Amino acid sequence: MEKKAEKKRIVLVPFPLQGHITPMMQLGQALNLKGFSITVALGDSNRVSSTQHFPGFQFVTIPETIPLSQHEALGVVEFVVTLNKTSETSFKDCIAHLLLQHGNDIACIIYDELMYFSEATAKDLRIPRVIFTTGSATNHVCSCILSKLNAEKFLIDMEDPEVQNKVVENLHPLKYKDLPTSGMGPLERFLEICAEVVNKRTASAVIINTSSCLESSSLSWLKQELSIPVYPLGPLHITTSANFSLLEEDRNCIEWLNKQKPRSVIYISVGSIAHMETKEVLEMAWGLYNSNQRFLWVIRPGTESMPVEVSKIVSERGCIVKWAPQNEVLVHPAVGGFWSHCGWNSTLESIVEGVPMICRPFNGEQKLNAMYIESVWRVGVLLQGEVERGGVERAVKRLIVDDEGVGMRERALVLKEKLNASVRSGGSSYNALDELVHYLEAEYR
Ligand code: UDP
Repeated sequence: MEKKAEKKRIVLVPFPLQGHITPMMQLGQALNLKGFSITVALGDSNRVSSTQHFPGFQFVTIPETIPLSQHEALGVVEFVVTLNKTSETSFKDCIAHLLLQHGNDIACIIYDELMYFSEATAKDLRIPRVIFTTGSATNHVCSCILSKLNAEKFLIDMEDPEVQNKVVENLHPLKYKDLPTSGMGPLERFLEICAEVVNKRTASAVIINTSSCLESSSLSWLKQELSIPVYPLGPLHITTSANFSLLEEDRNCIEWLNKQKPRSVIYISVGSIAHMETKEVLEMAWGLYNSNQRFLWVIRPGTESMPVEVSKIVSERGCIVKWAPQNEVLVHPAVGGFWSHCGWNSTLESIVEGVPMICRPFNGEQKLNAMYIESVWRVGVLLQGEVERGGVERAVKRLIVDDEGVGMRERALVLKEKLNASVRSGGSSYNALDELVHYLEAEYR
């Protein structure tokens, strides 16, 4: 009897932070549904119980080169640089072992753009390689522009207000001052990463978790500038249910939401990395309390703590959890708004549920997303300057109580429809996934 051909295998290399692992696992699930076998290469500290939600997937370990205790102290930029400098050998061993196991059945290595060390191994072992960008297309455009300006020694001109206020060519409304450099540590170090990220080396395609209905001009720019195919196939979380949570989700908040009135609650989360100062937490708590609205607030373990003087009054109107099942929260009818740090996943998740946002970004990429949320898609308000209780109260009321919030919700619902259409048969993201699948099959032959 003829041996049944094994499915082609794809090796995924996510960057080990929640906002990167989640979309990579969603991509894995989407490709698995298209018939590919999936192997995920993770560091030891990411081998959490969530792997059990992916019974058909193989998980392999890339031995970690940076002790877990140092991850946070290094900061993201330094962590990326160090990880890439130190991981190549252990990754090569890991893939060589996989080749022994699966022979030549590895169709491709798909690596997070921040795991650029993967490319050398894939090339040496003659395995096709594709890059996955988990941020927005516009952020990727900005990395390209920053890298180019830096190489041409033009960055210095950025201090000039005239240059700062110029719109980047063909990318209205993006201005030079919006290029996402703030909050990313020393500029030279950040530019070093931008240069690595935009250098496609021998990768043969780029996948982006976005949709052309959100970022058409940035995607056109990338398709024109990059010499390799670009596949915008998001938002991936609409069509896949992959849940790879590094922290345990507290589901009690859903019961609490069940008891609240429709669209009366503001959900607050600053993602998996950002920290708020205690002073800001205090001002926010008072602002929320004074707004008379209910709120569900995620305060991660080991981060900002609720000052004792407000924790009691806050618990009268709010529910505080360490980690929430965010997608379930956003889809809940009681949720009327999202106070967000504007990470790209949170942005997509909020728009897909038609939930307007209060934008309180921390760093450059989040600021860029916030600008799009407020000025391009017009589904949120940006809270600038110091956080103080009066401003918080006003922002919450604008979103939940005033007509302005109704307009934002209406626009978010229109976008929601467009995004859903883009992942349905014949839609742009649906087609991009199909094109990627054909491309991977052709690469494999
Ligand atoms: N998230 C979650 N529960 C929480 C807070 C966040 O599941 O209580 C998820 C959220 O749904 C998103 C991810 O964590 O998928 C955060 O990614 P994002 O890109 O928004 O921000 P980052 O954490 O990378 O700054």
